[in-house]
Amino acid sequence: MALLILQSPIPLQTLQLQHPQSVTVARLDQIHELVSGNKIFKLLGYIDAFKKSSYTTIATFGGAWSNHIVATAYYCYLSKIKCVGFIRGEYPSVLSNTLQLAFNYGMQLEFVDRSNYKNKDAIKQKYPNYFWINEGGYGPLGVHGFKTLRSLIPSFHLYDYIVSAVGTGTTLAGLSFITASQQQIIGISSQKNNLSLENETLALADPSKWSQIKLFHQYHFGGYAKHPPELIQYIKQVYSKHQLPLDIVYTSKAFFGLEDLLLQNYFPTNSKILFLHTGGLQGNASLPANTLSFL
Ligand SMILES: *Cc1c(COP(=O)(O)O)cnc(C)c1O
Repeated sequence: MALLILQSPIPLQTLQLQHPQSVTVARLDQIHELVSGNKIFKLLGYIDAFKKSSYTTIATFGGAWSNHIVATAYYCYLSKIKCVGFIRGEYPSVLSNTLQLAFNYGMQLEFVDRSNYKNKDAIKQKYPNYFWINEGGYGPLGVHGFKTLRSLIPSFHLYDYIVSAVGTGTTLAGLSFITASQQQIIGISSQKNNLSLENETLALADPSKWSQIKLFHQYHFGGYAKHPPELIQYIKQVYSKHQLPLDIVYTSKAFFGLEDLLLQNYFPTNSKILFLHTGGLQGNASLPANTLSFL
């Protein structure tokens, strides 16, 4: 079944910048108001495999603001698949917006305290009848769906650089299967000191493209999900300059990294750069009300 939200081309936004390079943003955040970005693409391969299997329920993991959890809940809702989300932390007195949304889409929520959450294999073993999807959709099945992304960005082959935020590296690996040999893939990690990320990314990537993938690690703003005041300030500034809304976990750090690399003349003059806006804006609801003007 083709998803209706994946039927139209991804909107593209070309930015006005003081650089000889051009930057176009692929607005994956606009494919759906709540379930946006790269997560749906990562799920395509999993859902295909699930449908070919004899399993009857999908299960996965995530935190209270996880984009992957909402995307899974939504996709399963559309496909009428039973799904269970194993959520990090105790049962809260009030559900986060993200979890409320997932619940409304019909996901069964199971809360797992932080120490047990670390041992995901033990949880999986307890429920062998579930079709398990890794946290964040990491895995070989997660890369297949990016072929669909390629068909939704007809001008994809015209860019010299594709720049994306990186969590698990699955998206970056997915991109390696749709880029041509002259295109470079730049990933900006949202984590601090994740030294295994390169290997985890390359493990899923097209080996013939390994040398075209480059990861940057210095734009984490203190670590995963950390959003100090200077990051919030930066998000506001980008929004007022370009009307480009960014999320606090991934895309703001990636866009900051891209702007910093432009300033350092990392990219040759006249390079054409495509920045993937990987979505995640729903997670900004974790901020106090009115922190950002675009929510
Ligand atoms: C999950 C996520 C990422 C990271 O994607 P990976 O495939 O795990 O590297 C990037 N941006 C947003 C907005 C995300 O939600």
